[in-house]
Amino acid sequence: MTNDAFGGVTVVAIDGPAGSGKSSVSKEIARRLGFGYLDTGAAYRALSWHVLASGAETTDEVAVLSALDGFDLRQGLDPDERAVAVGGTDVTDAIRTAEVTAAIAGFTKVQAVRDRLNDGFRRKARESGLPGVVIEGRDITSVVAPDAPVRILLTASERVRAERRGLEISADATDVAAAISKRDASDAHTLSLAQGDQGVDVVDTTELDFEQSVAAVRDVIERRTGGRDGR
Ligand code: C5P
Repeated sequence: MTNDAFGGVTVVAIDGPAGSGKSSVSKEIARRLGFGYLDTGAAYRALSWHVLASGAETTDEVAVLSALDGFDLRQGLDPDERAVAVGGTDVTDAIRTAEVTAAIAGFTKVQAVRDRLNDGFRRKARESGLPGVVIEGRDITSVVAPDAPVRILLTASERVRAERRGLEISADATDVAAAISKRDASDAHTLSLAQGDQGVDVVDTTELDFEQSVAAVRDVIERRTGGRDGR
C-alpha cells in the first residue's frame, strides 16, 4: 500500500517527544530499507536561522512569512548526510545553537508558516525518486501525512528520555530533564493529537535498546505494509 498524496512513495511518518530515539531510529530504518530520511526539525531550525540572519525576530509573523519567500533550503534525503544549507551558506552546525533552537518557538504555532513548511516536506517526499521516505517530526502523522500507510508515535518515559539526551550531549541530567519538559510542554498539542489517533501505532522504547527499538518499528512497517516494505 502506498500513499497517493506522495505519488507512490511509501511514507513512514514518525512523531515523538525529544529523547524518544526518533531521529536515530528513523535514520536506521531508512538505511535498512533503502528509503530517504527527512528531518523536518532541521527545516524549522534552518528557517529560524534564516529569519535571524535577516535581522528580524522570529516572533514577527510578517517577517517570517516574507523570509519564507526567499527560503532556499538545501536538505538531502540521505540518512548519512546531515548537511543543511540555506541560500548557499552551510548552516549544518549553526542551526544547532541554543539561540537558533530557542527562536524556533517564535513561529511554530503560526499555521501559515507550518503550512508552507509542510508543503515543502510533501513535495520533497513525492519527488524523491525513492521507494520510500521516513519523515520525522511533529505533526507528521497527523497533518503532513495523515494517510501514510505507516504512522508511528515513538515514546519513552521521561526519565529514560532525559538519560538518553544527557548521554548524547553530555550535559547535566537535571538541565536536560528541564529542557525536555519545556519542549514537551510546547509540543504537547501535537503529541496528544497523535496519541488519540486510531491509525497511529505507539512504540514505547522505555525498556528497549536501540536495536530492539529499530526491530519494533520494522515490525510495525511490515504489519502495515503487508511485508512489502519491511525487508
Ligand atoms: O526535531 P528538532 O529538535 O530538530 O526540532 C526543533 C523544533 O522545531 C521542535 O522542538 C519543534 O518546536 C519544531 N518542529 C515542529 N514541527 C516539526 C519539526 C520540528 O514544530 N515537524
